[in-house]
Amino acid sequence: MEEKELSFLDAVKINLDECAGILELDEETHLAIKTPMRELVVSIPVRMDDRKIKLFKGFRVQHNNARGPTKGGIRFHPEETIDTVRALASLMTWKCALPDLPLGGSKGGVICNTKELSIGELERLSRGYIRAVSDFIGPDIDVPAPDVYTTPQIMAWMMDEYSIMKGKTQFGAITGKPVGVGGSLGRTDSTSLGGAFALREAALEYKIDLKTAAIAIQGFGNVGYYAAKRIHEMLGCKIVAVSDSKGAIFNKNGLNPVEVYKHKEETGSVTNFSGSENISNRELLALDLDILIPAALENVILEKNAANVNATIVLELANGPTTPNADKILWENEVHVVPDFLANCGGVIVSYLEMVQNSYAYYWTLNDVTKYLDDKIRDTYRNVLGVSREKELHMRQAAFTIAVDRVVKAMKLRGTI
Ligand code: GLU
Repeated sequence: MEEKELSFLDAVKINLDECAGILELDEETHLAIKTPMRELVVSIPVRMDDRKIKLFKGFRVQHNNARGPTKGGIRFHPEETIDTVRALASLMTWKCALPDLPLGGSKGGVICNTKELSIGELERLSRGYIRAVSDFIGPDIDVPAPDVYTTPQIMAWMMDEYSIMKGKTQFGAITGKPVGVGGSLGRTDSTSLGGAFALREAALEYKIDLKTAAIAIQGFGNVGYYAAKRIHEMLGCKIVAVSDSKGAIFNKNGLNPVEVYKHKEETGSVTNFSGSENISNRELLALDLDILIPAALENVILEKNAANVNATIVLELANGPTTPNADKILWENEVHVVPDFLANCGGVIVSYLEMVQNSYAYYWTLNDVTKYLDDKIRDTYRNVLGVSREKELHMRQAAFTIAVDRVVKAMKLRGTI
């Protein structure tokens, strides 16, 4: 298939087809793991500040609940589509199964541009979305969380709306909430911290000295920024380049992530940061690096640019940044890819801890949360690496076989297939 025709959903399906072949799944099982369990398309009427009503379109796809309630974030994105949400929901099933969380996978999305909404409009939209899907979510059914352009404040509104509807506080209905309204310590940057732990393991394996390693981060939103900060502070790495949708910046001696973040807050972009050189996103991907971190959206490393990647490790903090054809090229070029649902599963791991804390009404210390996350990521990385070496699969294939095998076993035990 021509690379340009390959959507994110196609990419996930190709990965699953390949995995079904490796695991020698029969046709029914193969079809069952590809097919979402439930899909909702909702229309959300929102009273805008000018008193007019605007209709927004939203989605919630629950992919598979064989191993527990479904779990997955909600994206607020102007180009959201049901197909992207389908792909992401499927990925959540594998992301929860890989670190052995007792959860299934789901994802939500609303077509909107948060930059064009006032705070009041954003709140009404967030509450409206929850009202629209409220019969199909809940602590034991499906638990949303933050994702692209959604924040802890949005999660607080959503939890509050759900609680009002049920007539009682329902902290466990949403994760990624602020601390003080049922949120967990350590949740905000757990995706990035989990990524930093995975990177530490990969660097150990590839004998990269992180104190001198050169790193570029594509995307400087929530995940990209916290990753830059964590990796810089905790592991001591040099962040030589970062980018956002407007362009990229490069400084071979290293950038200070906190200063770059301030600059982005002030000017709306990382570009033109003093002491750095403006480069293109394309140039960033081709820099001579130890570690490349895609931390924005899907479909970034493609067949046409994969050969330009000049890094020892690609740590996928974004969901779906590498297409299957690009994967092959990276594998041939001996680039070690830490796949998305391993590199960025720290977020849902701490979401799981948040659910546990909510149901017990007992809250853990930051140390407890961090230790759990660290152990989980280390064990999961080691497990994937072990399978990859033993079966001569690349890391994504190994991760898929572990996760899919667990889900298939659960479906068989339950008598679904
Ligand atoms: N949105 C995050 C992800 O893609 C977190 C999901 C969750 O915590 O449920 O992994």
